[in-house]
Amino acid sequence: MPICVHCAYPAKHLYTTYKTKSNIRLGVCPRCDRFLDPLIEHDPLILLLDLILLKPRVFLHLLFNRGTDPLDATAPPSPSAEEMSKDRRKTRIQEDVMILFGMVVLAETVSRVIPLDSSTFSSCLKIMCAVVCETAAQHTVTLGCALLVLRWRGWYPPRGSLQGVTDGRRVDFIPWLIPLTLLYTSLLPLLLQLFLSIWHSPPDPAFTPPAWDTFVDSLPFDISQHPYIRQIAMELADVWSKADRLWLGTRLLGGMSAGFGLRVLLPTRPCETTAIVLAGWAAAAFAARAMEGVLGA
Ligand SMILES: [Zn+2]
Repeated sequence: MPICVHCAYPAKHLYTTYKTKSNIRLGVCPRCDRFLDPLIEHDPLILLLDLILLKPRVFLHLLFNRGTDPLDATAPPSPSAEEMSKDRRKTRIQEDVMILFGMVVLAETVSRVIPLDSSTFSSCLKIMCAVVCETAAQHTVTLGCALLVLRWRGWYPPRGSLQGVTDGRRVDFIPWLIPLTLLYTSLLPLLLQLFLSIWHSPPDPAFTPPAWDTFVDSLPFDISQHPYIRQIAMELADVWSKADRLWLGTRLLGGMSAGFGLRVLLPTRPCETTAIVLAGWAAAAFAARAMEGVLGA
């Protein structure tokens, strides 16, 4: 069942077609009195720009409305059409998850391979295996945590009948939408990482910032009296100077995008969404460590 992209009100059809398929009439939301989904007439490029700008309406359009059947004014309504439409939607969402998962794995692998001058086929394959395991671990843990929170809140699986529920996200929710949302939100950080990695050179582990001692000594307060504070400051500076800031920046952007996408899809509080995203990150980091040990990737 499609929904209004402004207020998530459930609707039977987004638009009506008449004798000619190009002659359509957009449906109006009974709650907010706006067109249910004006994005059905937009080009894929506009949708991509909306996705990059993290507009909530594009998430609702892609997750719930894309490919839904219109009301045909020239044909009588069929009772089995709704069930067939539900099955088709589920199949389409599963296909989207598989395709996007492949794209994300490929982009992440390429972005990791590009800085390596001496990359061989076997090393590329190892990196790809590691990326598949990290991404799968992140998605599995994020999905599990999100479903636990939704069960605890009684949102999904629903307690009692959904008759009269006016939140279309809940009426038509399936767990596959969670990994699909994560994949949509990971596209922008990955593309950014992919493009920037062409010009980016990884930090030299042997590099030591020469100006740091001078900087510490030039502070208006003297921290030499507190050797522990000075030691911590030096350690932090060392970690920061050797960190891959491109990786950190894109990961931070990815986390924020994922949190935003999940907030559009789910009724969770900001702290719950943050915890769900962090759990997924922790799982990916754990899987990365495990794969380093197994493959030496
Ligand atoms: Zn509405």
